[in-house]
Amino acid sequence: MAGAHVLMFPCPFQGHVQPMLKLAELLALHHLHVTFINTHSIHNRLTRYGDIQSLSASYPTLHFNTIADCYSFGNNTGSGDTTAGNIILSTTLHAKPLLRNILLAQSPEIPKVTCIIQDGILGSLSNDLASELGIPITIIHFRTSSPCCFWPYFWLPNLFKTNELPIRGDEDMDRIISNMPGMENLLRCRDLPSFCRPGAKGNLSIDWVSLQTQQSLAADALILNTFEELDRLVLSQIRLHFPKVYTLGPLHHHLNVRKAETNEANDNTSFRSSFFEVDRSCMAWLDAQAKGSVLYVSFGTSTIVTREELMEFWHGLVNSKRRFLWVMRPDLVVGRENDDRIPEELEEGTKERGFMVEWAPQEEVLAHKAIGGFLTHSGWNSTLESLVAGVPMICWPYFADQQVNSRFVSEVWKVGLDMKDVCDRDVVEKMVNDLMVHRRDEFLKSAQAMAMLANQSVSPGGSSHSSMQDLIHYIKSFGKENN
Ligand code: UDP
Repeated sequence: MAGAHVLMFPCPFQGHVQPMLKLAELLALHHLHVTFINTHSIHNRLTRYGDIQSLSASYPTLHFNTIADCYSFGNNTGSGDTTAGNIILSTTLHAKPLLRNILLAQSPEIPKVTCIIQDGILGSLSNDLASELGIPITIIHFRTSSPCCFWPYFWLPNLFKTNELPIRGDEDMDRIISNMPGMENLLRCRDLPSFCRPGAKGNLSIDWVSLQTQQSLAADALILNTFEELDRLVLSQIRLHFPKVYTLGPLHHHLNVRKAETNEANDNTSFRSSFFEVDRSCMAWLDAQAKGSVLYVSFGTSTIVTREELMEFWHGLVNSKRRFLWVMRPDLVVGRENDDRIPEELEEGTKERGFMVEWAPQEEVLAHKAIGGFLTHSGWNSTLESLVAGVPMICWPYFADQQVNSRFVSEVWKVGLDMKDVCDRDVVEKMVNDLMVHRRDEFLKSAQAMAMLANQSVSPGGSSHSSMQDLIHYIKSFGKENN
């Protein structure tokens, strides 16, 4: 059967699956056949807490398929290890034969796969697969992390050559990195991707991340979840090495805008790609709060804090006297077992001015008029969601691209404050009041200007809108050739 058919394969984490699923919907809105591959455990979560059943019902050309969880095959750290690093490593090691089985068992009812959009962090996976099968498939890498971190990932080997890396144990973390084109003298050691730090969290090494990034050079094209106006300087550097780059973001907003204007999917339900049960009770609480009075606090899907850090944040929030909505994931705090007493002043302050949920409908929360700021771990999805909503941020990055993102939030886009490497109740209190009160107008002005640019980019004639048209055209051109 003639036509184009895209196979999409994200790395099995919410922050990766979510934007790729948004892209899958956008492609399906253009009537492209898309097969979206999830691992069993991700599929189960999406079925339980998200809404992928109605997603396939809404788009006749969007198909879902599953493969086994690669961590169950193990790697050098053994099977069943579900740490983030092991999930990534085991997926790069074991996914290929599972994907090959899917490609070999294609239905005659729909066009054969002509294009693979693969999570870029998985490196040479699809290229290896295509050459092994000897079939012509266009390979596109989608990097779900920020472009402002993709670029340092790519440039890291040069920093070793100029002796700016490695960072040594006794290093001054404020040392400036000068030899990064497009970011000269912007990043300090502490702002580099977390893998550059001595004793970095997780089992992904800086060499491995850098190597995976280099593998994207062999792909036919690169997709980034950003918009030209946000990352102009960085994109111009990336394009010197990757000639075909599609900037389609912010993808969540891009999809919302398209859905609002199409007839094919005119029920405005946001098909949630959630991995957790959403507690909507916070929306009614927000309705009762004054405009711009609430700080939203969330550290994403996998950040963990110690009990001491929790207490510093909590005291700081309560002492700030501002209202706050806090996502307290059940697995957010480590080392809680021995002592989960909450000081009375925190109980009281939270009862008076706070609200807690285990998981919030974040996009909706950020769009609520009561929200005046976001204390975030600077995950790329959260950052984009905050930018779209025009909400200023306080950044407390945890790992990976978050260290770079937070630097950009404070120093490049000037839409917030960077609290990295500090966890102190007085600093929390001061930054909350700076963001919500003393410097509110300044941050709000730049955040709203950025929100406007984001909105323009996904509107007809905008940069991400045009880039999406180009991508569709590109994918369809291979559909014609290959069938
Ligand atoms: N999120 C959510 N509800 C919450 C907390 C987070 O829906 O209570 C979503 C958030 O909207 C974002 C994603 O989880 O889309 C987190 O992705 P991000 O890239 O920010 O962080 P990570 O997954 O790396 O922790």
